[in-house]
Amino acid sequence: MEFEKLIKTFGGVVSTAQLIRCGNTEREIREAMAIGFLTRIRHGWYATRDADPVVVKAVRSGGVASCLTALGKHGVWVPEHPRDCHFRVTRHGQIKADDACRRYGRDVAAVGTVDDVATALLYSPHCVDELGFASCASQS
Ligand SMILES: [Zn+2]
Repeated sequence: MEFEKLIKTFGGVVSTAQLIRCGNTEREIREAMAIGFLTRIRHGWYATRDADPVVVKAVRSGGVASCLTALGKHGVWVPEHPRDCHFRVTRHGQIKADDACRRYGRDVAAVGTVDDVATALLYSPHCVDELGFASCASQS
């Protein structure tokens, strides 16, 4: 698969595993880095120059975009919030970030760089008040 198509599919941030699964080789990844098309933002994760900076920040922080950030990217109305990036740490991130969003119960495995609506809702109750949460949940 061509890098451009793959990158567009994943919002400008992809993992080595995604690139390999889509038919790219480690050599092609190195070549893309050498010409500046891809930049390594974390071990096993790459971004293009035009990648969404919020998604890049989430992945660089050791996780994926979630909570209010992911809901907003899916078109769900979210209340005003002071943080520019709501993210959650993934198991593979192995980073303890105090500003990461949390959920009640066990963490959910990440399947992409931006959580789906259902997963993002699980991580949002700590970041919004009850009215804000009810408003978000009623639109999903
Ligand atoms: Zn949050």
